[in-house]
Amino acid sequence: MAKHKDLISAIGNTPLIRLNRVSALTGCEIWGKAEFLNPGQSVKDRAALFIVHDAVASGALKPGGTIVEGTAGNTGIGLTLVANSLGFKSVIVIPETQSQEKKDALRLYGAELIEVPAKPYKDPNNYIKISGRLAEKLARELPEGAIWANQFDNVSNKRAHVETTGPEIWHDTNGRIDGFICAAGSGGTLAGVAEALRERNPDIKIGLADPEGAALFDYYAHGTLKSSGDSITEGIGQGRITANLEGLAVDMPYQIPDAEALPYIFDLLQHEGLCLGGSSAINIAGAVRMARDLGPGHTIVTILCDYGNRYASKIYNPAFLASRDLPVPPWLVDRHPLDI
Ligand code: PMP
Repeated sequence: MAKHKDLISAIGNTPLIRLNRVSALTGCEIWGKAEFLNPGQSVKDRAALFIVHDAVASGALKPGGTIVEGTAGNTGIGLTLVANSLGFKSVIVIPETQSQEKKDALRLYGAELIEVPAKPYKDPNNYIKISGRLAEKLARELPEGAIWANQFDNVSNKRAHVETTGPEIWHDTNGRIDGFICAAGSGGTLAGVAEALRERNPDIKIGLADPEGAALFDYYAHGTLKSSGDSITEGIGQGRITANLEGLAVDMPYQIPDAEALPYIFDLLQHEGLCLGGSSAINIAGAVRMARDLGPGHTIVTILCDYGNRYASKIYNPAFLASRDLPVPPWLVDRHPLDI
């Protein structure tokens, strides 16, 4: 579509990009859905739009109202752009550990940003729980009202991918797709795309690419929610079965260490010109593992969630990588944008 009536109409319909070097490496066709090309530069624009539209349709969100959300950043960016476009306000609660670039973008776009210490989900001061309580308070106090977007347990999120991302992948591969794999934050992308693809062909294999420190790999591989290790990736790594993940069956679960994943995005930047964030690295590493297990000749699609620029001070900063004992590509040492 060449013309859009407004910015939010430009959300979605992202292209598939062939990942040439990992395709050559595995003998499979590995494609990445370029979600960084959404207006808010991440896959979360889709969920933000569906959550807001559904809240308006149900009457919960009224003109001039406020949208409150706890987010690793990208959902907040999507919600804030949608809010600006439709005349709402946004209040975003973010763990202070998330990248400075995402916090700066949120402030620039006009969100009221509340940074809180990172706490586990079971802690009452976890950022998601704080955002829920804040939404209730603002709903009582503000004359125009407030809603809690609640991306983790609001299935409008998953529906965005059932109705848009999944059908786009089916259409753009002409239905010739053997596997889909990605990581889960809320799980909306994974569960929604899985549902849309399986409706069209129940034989398509669904894979989970889980970072270390998340509990979903153990759940889908062994039936228990257990986690160990850690990851520098942001926006993924879930410890529970969210409402968006309920009912999902995963055929091929993988746990991917950062040290395995990051070299794929460094290689992509150097040789294919794609600068991607850490969750895309986990996704691509997962696609490679799936390709090896399925064997040559298969077509696999994954998600390129957001741009690497959002993590310049972390993933693309040699000093940060070295501080985490992660591999530093020699060429990055000469071009790092920041020191920490
Ligand atoms: N990658 C990034 C960078 C994200 O911000 C998110 C969402 N927090 C995801 C992946 C995961 O998407 P979902 O919430 O649909 O599982």
